[in-house]
Amino acid sequence: MEIGRSDITITGLRLDSRLLKLRGECINMKKYDIRFCSCGRVHFIDQEKINSAIENEKEVLVVCNNCGSSYVVGASKECDEDGEECYMMYSQSMQDTEVNDMIRINSIVFTTGEQIRMMTGGEATDHGGYGFIDWETEKSKNISSEEWEKMRKTVNVEHTINWIRDENKLKQMSHYLCGIDWKGTKYEKSYNTK
Ligand SMILES: [Zn+2]
Repeated sequence: MEIGRSDITITGLRLDSRLLKLRGECINMKKYDIRFCSCGRVHFIDQEKINSAIENEKEVLVVCNNCGSSYVVGASKECDEDGEECYMMYSQSMQDTEVNDMIRINSIVFTTGEQIRMMTGGEATDHGGYGFIDWETEKSKNISSEEWEKMRKTVNVEHTINWIRDENKLKQMSHYLCGIDWKGTKYEKSYNTK
């Protein structure tokens, strides 16, 4: 049961942590844990894999097959404001992890992640606090530099929806304020449009 979430930054990777209340065996009923890779891809990690790592007091190692970066996802046991036991999810870049820490790994996920399609016609190659950016696609001659800069930073939402297709993934992703304007789509909510 999710009762809140906050964003933290560790070594340049934008991460999020979720405060999860533990009641019985219910850790998190969502299908995926979503991570935004700095290469612009979005990782959808099976929540079941993460839940079983948490149950074993271990972590899941995620490797991005697009950019090679890796990080661990896990949860630490904490008390919430009511004094009840809860899990605080975290993720941490592998750069900060010692080889000895590999003993903490419950399973490894290799993923190419999902592409985010941009107004340039290409895919996002970067993601950070500013949202998604395509640095790779070359500018068409008949478009002004100013216009192109805007296109680089604007997600083509319709194309991205058609690209990803998976209803579960899209639904979950639309809860995040990650730089996608969902206005006019069936995933639109009061807080996810610009
Ligand atoms: Zn990546």
